[in-house]
Amino acid sequence: MVLDYCTGLDYLYQCMEPATKELIGLDHMRGVARLADPHPLSQQILRTDVSGMPLEWVDYREAARLYHTGQVAYTCGTPLYSLYGGTSARTGLRTVVQVNSIIATLGHTGNPGNLRGAAYTPPLNNQTLFRRDAHLCLYCGQRFAYQLLSRDHVTPFSRGGRDVWSNVVTACRRCNNAKASRTPEQAGMQLLAVPFTPTYAEYIYLKGRRVLADQMEYLLAHFPRSSPLHERIQRFPA
Ligand SMILES: [Zn+2]
Repeated sequence: MVLDYCTGLDYLYQCMEPATKELIGLDHMRGVARLADPHPLSQQILRTDVSGMPLEWVDYREAARLYHTGQVAYTCGTPLYSLYGGTSARTGLRTVVQVNSIIATLGHTGNPGNLRGAAYTPPLNNQTLFRRDAHLCLYCGQRFAYQLLSRDHVTPFSRGGRDVWSNVVTACRRCNNAKASRTPEQAGMQLLAVPFTPTYAEYIYLKGRRVLADQMEYLLAHFPRSSPLHERIQRFPA
């Protein structure tokens, strides 16, 4: 089944010839996405720089803008969906943007790269922290839903510990309470893995929602070989 969605792609509308707008009618042609495959429009696209380093996740609107403004150097991955704009008065063809799951874009510099701890420290929040630890409590080793997890400071604040990636782990509330304001040694609790600061590419993965198989494969190739995420993702696929 092929579905048409009104997407409000104003810039596709704006780029139409004035005569076409009149011909079609103002309200009708706001841009339409035509979906011939199972990917919903909410599927995020992985944007990389021209050298292929992962940069960020973008939505279909931003992807269409990048295509339309000629900033897409090349694409990888698989076609997700096609976005349909207005009909060009010049060519008589409808504006179509086929959006791929991975797009490499021009003119981006200053990518923090993939060196651990060197030039880039990603912001710390619970969503990406829990994902780093595969939603496992790093004390009892059990997996929990997001709302049952907490951020544990391995060395507590009261003992000089800081709120940084290398000092925080995912913990269930029970283990966190049991540990209280003590170090794991003092509490007699064993930490199951060493906390680490994600590289830029790892952080992009941790931020992703519904990462597709090809996007995952692409990101994995940019993780350091020693990344604990290789094993975690294999053991606990999202
Ligand atoms: Zn626990």
